[in-house]
Amino acid sequence: MRLFAAVVPPSEQLDQLDGVVARLRRLPGAGGIRWTSRPGWHLTLAFMGEVEEELLPELLVRMERAAHRTAPFPLRLHGGGHFGRRALWAGVAGDLDTLRLLAERSDAAARRAGVAMDEHRRYQGHLTVGRAREEGLSLRPFVDELASFEGRRWQVTELALVRSNLPVRGVPGERPRYETVGAWPLEGREGLSG
Ligand code: ATP
Ligand code: MG
Repeated sequence: MRLFAAVVPPSEQLDQLDGVVARLRRLPGAGGIRWTSRPGWHLTLAFMGEVEEELLPELLVRMERAAHRTAPFPLRLHGGGHFGRRALWAGVAGDLDTLRLLAERSDAAARRAGVAMDEHRRYQGHLTVGRAREEGLSLRPFVDELASFEGRRWQVTELALVRSNLPVRGVPGERPRYETVGAWPLEGREGLSG
């Protein structure tokens, strides 16, 4: 199964983002973007890709441990940007050190459970709101519109493991796009996050 570790913002923050995305969708060129849908909105911490079913029990144990060691931390949605010419995202601000730590711990949990994690770039928290259908579209107006976005701060209290069901051609809406496989409370104590 295809898995990733994530933080899911609360509904109030998703409402706020929904408001901004509604504005983005009215900008010229918006039709050239495949917009992600609100029920699937998340901040990816670690993308694991295809994981063998037999690794799952060990992965769940190690993810729980990662959550257990990490203290709750404040975050807010903030601004936006793009990766390459395609992926448009809303950014985050707040305790980015702990966000990164949680991403690293999720990555380590997967590795130790036997998941072959690819090398990747330095972690950058983001919530993908759309993907350009073609590389020719300028994402600049959308990033500009996102620039002034400041979501209300919230306390991240949970680590989630999410299953991603890639869309099957000709079978619309058969299963939810993303399914939460496990979720664990962050239980580390402030200042004891190492
Ligand atoms: P689709 O691939 O159909 O456009 P998606 O990208 O949301 O949809 P997945 O490809 O399963 O679905 O990815 C799940 C999550 O993991 C998404 O947030 C995606 O941006 C992220 N992700 C996917 N591949 C990688 C990767 N190689 N490195 C980092 N994050 C990734
Ligand atoms: Mg993808």
